[in-house]
Amino acid sequence: MDEFISSAGNTALLLKKYDIKLKKSLGQNFLIDTNILKKIAKASGAGENDTILEIGSGLGSLTEILVPLVKKIVCVEVDAKLSKAFREEMAGFIGNNITLIESDAMKIDYSRLAGEFKINKVISNLPYKIAAPLIITILKNAPGIDKMYLTIQKDIACRLTAKTGDKNYSSYTVKSALLADFRIMFQISGTCFMPVPNVDSVFVEVCRKNMKANEIGPDLVNEFFSFIDNCFLHRRKKLVNSLQKVLEKFNIDKKDLMVKMLHGIGKDAEVRAEEMTLDDFIKLFLALKYPNV
Ligand code: SAH
Repeated sequence: MDEFISSAGNTALLLKKYDIKLKKSLGQNFLIDTNILKKIAKASGAGENDTILEIGSGLGSLTEILVPLVKKIVCVEVDAKLSKAFREEMAGFIGNNITLIESDAMKIDYSRLAGEFKINKVISNLPYKIAAPLIITILKNAPGIDKMYLTIQKDIACRLTAKTGDKNYSSYTVKSALLADFRIMFQISGTCFMPVPNVDSVFVEVCRKNMKANEIGPDLVNEFFSFIDNCFLHRRKKLVNSLQKVLEKFNIDKKDLMVKMLHGIGKDAEVRAEEMTLDDFIKLFLALKYPNV
C-alpha cells in the first residue's frame, strides 16, 4: 500500500477489504487526490492550537492529513461499515488525537459537542444532502466554532455568496449572511473524487460574524429566521403583500403602517424581498418588533 488512504488505488483497496459499497444517498464521494487534501489542510490554516470537527470522515482520507497538524479531531460518521474501517485504519490515533462519533450529523447537539471538546474549527468534505442546513445549524448552535473550511457543491456556495438581486439570492443567503461571511477559495475538479460526483464542488471559507455588531442577538435568531422565511415566500411579489402573516404576528394590521416602516428604512412600497439587503431586513425586523423605539 502507498502512504496515504487517498493515494492512487488505496481507497478502492480499502473499500474492498471492508466490503463497502458506496452509497449515493449518503453523498459518499471520497477525495482520492492527496494534493487536494494537502491544499485543503493548508488553506484551512490547520495548526497545533486547533481542535477540529470533521463531519463525514469516511475512510479517513482528510483526517489522516490533518491529524499530524492539529491538537485533536472529532469525527462524525453515520455509516457503520465506514466507521468500523476508520477505527481499524486509525487505531493508533483513536482515543488520543481522534474521537470518532458514530452518529447522524443532523441529530447532534453542536452546542454540547463543541463545548465538551472545545472545538474551534470545522474542516470537512460535507455530504451533499445535509451541507446546506448543517452550515446554519453549526453556526447557530456552536458559538465557539468561528471558522469552517468546507468542500460543498457549487450551487450551495452560489447561494451562500449571492448578492442582492442575483438569481441565487434567497432566504438561505440572508439567514447565513446574518451569521457569517463566506468566500469561495478554489474549485475542486470532479476527478479528485471517487466516484466522480454529478455536481461541481468548491472549497469555501466560513468566518463567523460578531453577533453583537448586527443587533440580532442569539435570542432573536430564530424569530428573525422565520421572518426571513415569510419575506421570501414570494420573492418576486411586493414585500408588503408577502408579509401579511408577519404583520398579524406583530399585531400590525394596516398595510400603510408597513409602507411607512419601509419608507423609514429608505425603501419604497414596491420593494421585493430579492431587492433587500441583510441590513435592510434587520432594520425592518427591528422596526416591526419595536415599533415605538
Ligand atoms: N471525508 C471523506 C468522506 C467524504 S464523503 C473524504 O473526503 O474522502 C461524505 C461522508 O459523509 C461519507 O463518509 C458519508 O457516509 C458521511 N455521511 C453522510 N451523511 C451523513 C450524516 N447524516 N451524518 C454523518 N455522516 C454522514
